[in-house]
Amino acid sequence: MLLGNAKIATIDHASGEARFSYCMRNDGAIAIKGGNIVWVGDADAIPEEYKDPEKFPYRDLEGRLITPALIDCHTHVVHGGNRAVEFEMRLNGAGYEEIARAGGGIVSTVTATRDASVEVLLASALPRVDALLAEGVCVIEVKSGYGLDRETELNMLRAARAIEKYRAVRIKTTFLGAHATPAEYKGAPDRYIDEVCIPTLRAAHAEGLVDAVDGFCEGIAFDTAQIGRVFDVAHELDIPVKLHAEQLSNIGGTKLAASYGALSVDHVEYANEDDARAMAKSGSVAVLLPGAFYTLHETQLPPIEAFRKHGVPMAVATDCNPGTSPMTSMLLTMNMACTLFRLTPEEALVGATANAARALGLADTGQIKAGMRADLVIWNAQHPAELSYRIGFNPLSERIFGGVSVAQ
Ligand SMILES: [Zn+2]
Repeated sequence: MLLGNAKIATIDHASGEARFSYCMRNDGAIAIKGGNIVWVGDADAIPEEYKDPEKFPYRDLEGRLITPALIDCHTHVVHGGNRAVEFEMRLNGAGYEEIARAGGGIVSTVTATRDASVEVLLASALPRVDALLAEGVCVIEVKSGYGLDRETELNMLRAARAIEKYRAVRIKTTFLGAHATPAEYKGAPDRYIDEVCIPTLRAAHAEGLVDAVDGFCEGIAFDTAQIGRVFDVAHELDIPVKLHAEQLSNIGGTKLAASYGALSVDHVEYANEDDARAMAKSGSVAVLLPGAFYTLHETQLPPIEAFRKHGVPMAVATDCNPGTSPMTSMLLTMNMACTLFRLTPEEALVGATANAARALGLADTGQIKAGMRADLVIWNAQHPAELSYRIGFNPLSERIFGGVSVAQ
């Protein structure tokens, strides 16, 4: 088809710039064939071959805005149960101890996830997936990490992969066995890494379930030596790595991840300028997760200025998880990135498209240019800043996945 009479935020490099910007075409057109973009340009420069309505049915978009489809590059959207009761207990004054005694915290999610079959995990994830798709998402990264035993970690990844069979979306799966030490290995995180995490990673890889390997490097989770052992296996298996790092303190996770050429380092509130330099050198994307920052009442801002100064690409994601970021809205994530982290709306949109693709190692989506997949969103909007500006309003007109218009 040929989409015309549109404002197009192509998301590309302005001449001489390393960073991405809107690169607007205010009266543009896009030709799509076989699921891919074959041409994009100004309306008055459409090549003759795309003007044949038999081969390229024309669609007048009445001046609407088109952007690349959004990409949620960090989620835990597959999980059992939820923590709403715990949320209410906390607001009724219950402390950490009381909540833990009542079986709350990550333990409750691990228990609920272990109790769920692949089918139940899939069925409970789909409404959350639908919420993301309704706002123009075409790629979702999904992590394991609430099983913390071999079978449940594998089941989480199997459920994540199954989403593609039921919805028009591309799923990238990340093994996050090094998320927490389960109760049965309490006080023995090294034994957990050796006896469960690494063998499970090998099994998941053998089943073709792992696109990337992640970990949680934090005082309350795993140290750099433990994460390094997991990353060594990832390297041996030729799987790219990423890391939850510097979320609550700075213990060196960012530098470790950069030394393994990580696709991304995520959270990074407590990262410093040295960390930014290391990320710039390794080409790692800083994935900012304002939903977790908001939910935890965090006050330490990620070093945005240092990321800009050193040219570290920034992405934004929901971190959709039952504990610290029960959020399923990329538009709200973009708004929060602007209001809480002072990203510009342009940085937020780049962070939800081109840089999010990079955080997943995807080279065929996140921009509107010839040769890329036709994953697009048509918005009832005139300017891309509108996407970050409103709160709780969905201007989606249409989502196009691989060249096909999908109801949702
Ligand atoms: Zn996370």
